[in-house]
Amino acid sequence: MSAIAQNLAEVRAAMAAACRRAGRDPGRVRLVAVSKTVDLDRIKEAIDAGQDLFGENYLQEARDKIAALGRQVSWHLVGSLQTKKAKAAVELFDLIHAVDRFKLAQALDAAAVGLGKVQDVLIQVNQAGEDTKSGVAPAAAPELVQQIARLPHLRLLGLMTMPPWFPDPEEARPYFLALRELRDRLRTLTGLPLTELSMGMSGDFEVAIEAGATLVRVGTAIFGRR
Ligand SMILES: *Cc1c(COP(=O)(O)O)cnc(C)c1O
Repeated sequence: MSAIAQNLAEVRAAMAAACRRAGRDPGRVRLVAVSKTVDLDRIKEAIDAGQDLFGENYLQEARDKIAALGRQVSWHLVGSLQTKKAKAAVELFDLIHAVDRFKLAQALDAAAVGLGKVQDVLIQVNQAGEDTKSGVAPAAAPELVQQIARLPHLRLLGLMTMPPWFPDPEEARPYFLALRELRDRLRTLTGLPLTELSMGMSGDFEVAIEAGATLVRVGTAIFGRR
């Protein structure tokens, strides 16, 4: 078994164990293999090991990889996005994880109209108010959700977050639980299903799953250090 196949098997086993601890259906948690800076051969190894969903951060890099590997697998944009690159993002990605302002949402909606697509998106929430991270403040999330819900070519599926980095993943748990609670409030407020919670990375995906993650974004634990 290749190192990447071995890593994937370990991550999948840890995901399944976290689901069991939380009494959750493992079929409701998807693994996004974050492949930024990872070359084609290593992505192919992951595909050969059964991985069919990848997350990228940079548009040009993703464009080249998708041109080479095609759409036998699904591609998500997990990083932040500039408004001027909205059209490229809509062309390339099945799900955009990090929408955090209405102007960007409008640009994505306009691009989706032009491409005859309904674009799936998540709203990124910056719960700790960190300057270094993008994301809407929790207090501003209800307004943004309602604005995006009115854009006919976007389909808002849920929320995404990236908590502050902690050496102990347990410290991230309150942020994951807070995202789920915010989602529950927004669901009541808007009547939208908001089924998806994108949270958890290599260091803390198990805690995130226990807290309700439906998409975990894992790079280093699969592909090694960048
Ligand atoms: C790089 C990245 C990840 C993966 O991080 P790892 O710690 O390598 O698992 C997840 N989410 C986002 C938004 C990223 O940019």
